[in-house]
Amino acid sequence: MAKEEKKKDNINYRGVWEMIAPSYFSRKFFILALVPVALLSAVFGIGEPFIYGNIIDRLVTSVENNFDVSQTVDSVFPLLIIWAALVVLATIVSAIYSFFSWKLANLVLAHFIRRLFDRLLGMDMKVFEEEHSGDLLEKFNRAWDAVWWITEFGIHQVMGMTFVFFGAVGFGFYIDWRLGLVALIPIPFVFIVSFFNLRLSEKHQNVNRKFWERIGAHVGDSFANVTTVKNAAAEERSVTKLMRYYFQAYKNQMRIDKGWAVVDATQGGVYVGGRLLLFVSGVYLVASGATTIGVVVMFLGLAGRYYGSVQQILAQAPHGLKSMSSLNRLLRLWNSIPVIQEAEKPISMKKVSGDIVFDDVSFTYKQGQKHVLRDISYHIKPGQTIALVGSSGAGKSTLAKMLPRFYDPTEGAILLDGVDMRQISLKDLRRNIGFVMQENLLFHDTIFKNIAFVRPGASKRAVVQAAKRAQVHDFIMSTPQGYGTQVGERGVKLSGGQKQRIALARILLADPPVLVLDEATSALDSKTEHDLQAALLEVFKDRTTIVIAHRLSTVIHADVILVMEKGRIVDMGKHNQLIKKPGLYKEYWQIQAGGYV
Ligand code: ADP
Repeated sequence: MAKEEKKKDNINYRGVWEMIAPSYFSRKFFILALVPVALLSAVFGIGEPFIYGNIIDRLVTSVENNFDVSQTVDSVFPLLIIWAALVVLATIVSAIYSFFSWKLANLVLAHFIRRLFDRLLGMDMKVFEEEHSGDLLEKFNRAWDAVWWITEFGIHQVMGMTFVFFGAVGFGFYIDWRLGLVALIPIPFVFIVSFFNLRLSEKHQNVNRKFWERIGAHVGDSFANVTTVKNAAAEERSVTKLMRYYFQAYKNQMRIDKGWAVVDATQGGVYVGGRLLLFVSGVYLVASGATTIGVVVMFLGLAGRYYGSVQQILAQAPHGLKSMSSLNRLLRLWNSIPVIQEAEKPISMKKVSGDIVFDDVSFTYKQGQKHVLRDISYHIKPGQTIALVGSSGAGKSTLAKMLPRFYDPTEGAILLDGVDMRQISLKDLRRNIGFVMQENLLFHDTIFKNIAFVRPGASKRAVVQAAKRAQVHDFIMSTPQGYGTQVGERGVKLSGGQKQRIALARILLADPPVLVLDEATSALDSKTEHDLQAALLEVFKDRTTIVIAHRLSTVIHADVILVMEKGRIVDMGKHNQLIKKPGLYKEYWQIQAGGYV
């Protein structure tokens, strides 16, 4: 692996902290309010050994002085009452501490996922075209999990355990400084071993996240293409591939776990060894009359606090590393600055007339690569219907995607009502330009919500009216729940024509002055084609429409047909003009006459 590559696998802790810190700062007073509760919980925890150590000393004194039973009971009874009270109080405070820590974790998470989702949705369209959705989802879920866990562990447990540890250390020194010192001896070992293991496993952990993202992407891909998988009877192959990925992750995980097994064993060793050391030193001190049996018993109790707290913190370190690594994997996306940005002083445009000028537009997807669009110049007048026609890969979709500014021209400009689109407020621009692609038309929701998506709070009447105009109302009413019918993911429960008409109803409800539409290529039966055509003509009415046209009926009705080839406009005109002269359009027409262009 090259040096750079290796470096890439290290966790950028600072970057991760900068990503999550604002969500913690948003609840700083809540965190501060938890400090005294954690402190109180620690004090109650440490108080217990102090009490039973004292009880032992009183019993020893009692035995030495030949006290009778009632005198002995009298001497220890108040301490037993305090002990019982302590147990009750410690239980209550611990419950309060846990509850509010979890509440904090959920509040911080709410803040974080809002920022995260907002940022991810704000990324350039390019990112969504390049990243795998299963991989994105995996990153999102893991990051969410990590933030919850960091709060639950980092604040709840570490803060609590740190107070317990330092409380125990301070208290130990107060009771007997010699035993206090002895108790600390084994602790550096476990920290040193853990630290080295953290450093060693960091890279493997990061690589592991990559494996898991690949697993997420594969599972997502298989579900999305389940028809192809089933049709090819490739279920077993798909599972085998998953297991191959899994075992790569597994092998890597085992490398990490070897180190943690050593840390885990060291922690156990420290616990037992520390107690032994305390016991031996205690026996010596008692025998030489330097301390009491009660103090030794107190220390054996305190050892649970010393080593238990360290153990509890370090036992969670692997999970902590996993969380850091999950967040680290998100950093690249989190810190990527969208190319499509709002202008510094955006121009607000409420309702445009729909005049569009392509002014010498050229475009490449990646710098230095060949142009996908070249020197496109054309003036579309308000209300016109323009059909883009050309062979696959000619650049039609790319040109269409520039209108809602999913991409900006590399050279040249697109003007809307005389204003460079880059200067217009993004919200206004996208409100004015409706964009419908042939895929992913519908959400996994009811028909009503699918239509009303563009106008939340739209009245039932408005939605029904839009559906009627899109010639889909009768169909909707024939479904079992009418407008409340669930359409399934991406509308799988509907036919192609039904989906498209619902999507058209949505456009009619949004009523944008400009519409960009990628027509479906799928062949429809003549009745559906006829219904859809009627709906389309209704949608095209009174607005500027740019349609990537595959359907002959649309092409015939267009005001102008732009014929595209290899990123250029090679011809233009009305259908009747274009079929009369030799050229690409005529060729298409001859090949597919009566069908699709
Ligand atoms: P059409 O819609 O006419 O079929 P496209 O606009 O989809 O053509 O594609 C034009 C060219 O741009 C093709 O060569 C295609 O491979 C390329 N292309 C399309 N989308 C992307 C993308 N997201 N990244 C890189 N290249 C792309």
